[in-house]
Amino acid sequence: MPKRQVRNAFYFYMIDFREQQKKIGIQYGNIREVSEAAGPSWREAPPNVRAKFEEMARQEKLKRNVPDQKFTSTGIPFSEIERQERELREAEEAEREYINNIVKLKSFNSEIIHEYFYVMDVNYYCKFNSDYLIGECTALRFNVKNGIKDQFHTMINPGPIPVGYAYDVKLGAQELGLDMPDAITYKTLPYIDTLAIIVDYLKHGLPTSSKTVPPIYTMPERVQPVLNFILQMCAKTGEDDGMFRVYKLDTLFYTLLNGVKNRGDEGFPRESLALAQLKKDPFRYTPGLGCRHHEDIDKAAECTTSRVKRWAYTIMDSCCPVVGVDMLPSKHVPGDFDLDTIINFREQKKERAGPSVAVPRWGEPSNASASDINQSSFNESANTSASTSAPSTSSKKEKKAQPPLRMPKTDYSQTLRPAPELTEANFPSFSAGRGRGLASSLNKMHIGKPKK
Ligand SMILES: [Zn+2]
Repeated sequence: MPKRQVRNAFYFYMIDFREQQKKIGIQYGNIREVSEAAGPSWREAPPNVRAKFEEMARQEKLKRNVPDQKFTSTGIPFSEIERQERELREAEEAEREYINNIVKLKSFNSEIIHEYFYVMDVNYYCKFNSDYLIGECTALRFNVKNGIKDQFHTMINPGPIPVGYAYDVKLGAQELGLDMPDAITYKTLPYIDTLAIIVDYLKHGLPTSSKTVPPIYTMPERVQPVLNFILQMCAKTGEDDGMFRVYKLDTLFYTLLNGVKNRGDEGFPRESLALAQLKKDPFRYTPGLGCRHHEDIDKAAECTTSRVKRWAYTIMDSCCPVVGVDMLPSKHVPGDFDLDTIINFREQKKERAGPSVAVPRWGEPSNASASDINQSSFNESANTSASTSAPSTSSKKEKKAQPPLRMPKTDYSQTLRPAPELTEANFPSFSAGRGRGLASSLNKMHIGKPKK
């Protein structure tokens, strides 16, 4: 069957018009001529005349379109699915382009390590129609140079349990360590306050007139809940939701690491590997990352604060060694992480052959303590002169004082000491280790391999 053209009301009017004209002796060569002749009278036709032909068109459409229109098994027309897919593709392209641009632009003069990225996660009891019943959210900002700056966390009371959803809500509450919405024991914030704080948080450092805020990054499977949470807040508060963008963290991770890498063997050959690294979640069982509530009930792994910290740590774990940023506890790695080992390796490496990562030092850490997470300054340039640079070609390096590397509660002054003389034999498992946390960082730094 030939492809059918849409026959609208005017088409039927033209057919009728041609018949009427024929009766009075006027003939038309083709439909185009009829169209030109019939146009003026159609435009002036009274409603009852138009209605007659509109009804003919409607009947025709009903007759023809119904068997033509294809539906999915859930009753959605394929054309609608295609439209949604197209919009999704366009949105993904815009997202990729934004991330590429910002990384490329800022990598040009090493500014990228100072660029703050905002990460967000939500815990939801269950999905309710197209909305998510949110119980907790955390937003966090970090940059590669100074690590995690701070975070905003709140538990949320989603209001009454929707009728028929009590069981789903209960399951979600148990799995995620949330109180039931009708029996909440912890402190919660109303939507309106939460949104106001998140907007302020995202607008940090922007001009007050700014109409957009930086994108929020989250894991791909959490883009919908986070977006929905923001839309819900906007709907309840009347805020314009157009300023928010929720992007995929794995795309950022992939682009960021590949943007700062210096050698062909660094970075991710494929974007899926960035997601795999995040999913591996090497800091999952690190204690002390969750909010007070989740720590108290011993479910910190399910806490949104713990999750966003782990994501940031995972990204920095890969990026810091590549750009030559020394990792500080609580900032770039969890506060109680045993960094002594990695520092010893560095000292040993510098003495032996100099750093194998042949990059300019993009700023050394200040002697910030692990507990000053909320006091770190945006003025990072003041820190960079504090310590000596490490020229990549030098084979003779003086030892420099390392930042404190103990548990945050420990008195650091007692623990600073020169690194003991060690050989690679002291750490046989590290060079063999693959894929977990610091072990993989060590591999990335090519410790123990001959300098090129
Ligand atoms: Zn929590």
